Amino acid sequence: MPRINVLLVGSPYIVGEETALINSLEGKRGEPRLRPPDPTESGFLGKPTAVINVEVVAAAPVILRAHYEGREPIIEKYFCVTGDVERPGLYRKPLTVQLDEFLGEAGAKDVKAVFVGGVSSGLAHSSKIKVRLTPEDTRKLGVFIGPGVIIALSNKRCIVDTMLEVMKFFSHESCGRCEPCKLGTRELVDILERVREGKASLDDLRWAESVAKTMMETSLCGLGMSAGKVFLDALNQFRDEFEEHLRGVCRAGVCFR
Ligand code: SF4
Repeated sequence: MPRINVLLVGSPYIVGEETALINSLEGKRGEPRLRPPDPTESGFLGKPTAVINVEVVAAAPVILRAHYEGREPIIEKYFCVTGDVERPGLYRKPLTVQLDEFLGEAGAKDVKAVFVGGVSSGLAHSSKIKVRLTPEDTRKLGVFIGPGVIIALSNKRCIVDTMLEVMKFFSHESCGRCEPCKLGTRELVDILERVREGKASLDDLRWAESVAKTMMETSLCGLGMSAGKVFLDALNQFRDEFEEHLRGVCRAGVCFR
């Protein structure tokens, strides 16, 4: 029998990043490492390391058996469905499930947008959610299913207010190792606060767009890149709502009360 060691690591969000996880396993501060080298070259204690999610390992026999039998594998995954749904919870579904039908089953109504794969992956406008949750289809949508978290937002949500909370989360979880993420998340929080209060200008939105692009292009790890990307997802798909706030209008009735 192969020996399996179970180790506890620190709990910050960033320890989900593979090199930060390796650092934490080695008893160091859980922050991402510079690459190269990648973990497959030099990872845990300097040895080649594969960082693989348990769910992926569990799917391997299903895939291997299907290939052995000459058919397409039917891969099931756990999805955590939350947000504005009547029946939140953990669902097990094949990756071929269609997102809009899945949300209907969970009791989502009047959907405005969906974080597909959690807030780190991307935000999809409701007009784009007639897609299957396969890697191919989600890639076309510009998101990755990752941990399988699906967060539905109804039209009662204000996109500016929601993005402010999301950006506060990223700012809090940023490890501070690189400037684009450390300063960029703070800057986006500051701008979003002013947008929500009706105190921002079009120039502020242009500056926020530029900051988010820089974060995507120059952050050291996925956290800073994701924070920039998800902000741009929101701004590009809901620009009219952002601009309404500059005129003191919140169509969801959440801000300016
Ligand atoms: S992107 Fe953010 S979380 Fe990642 S290394 Fe830079 S500061 Fe740390």
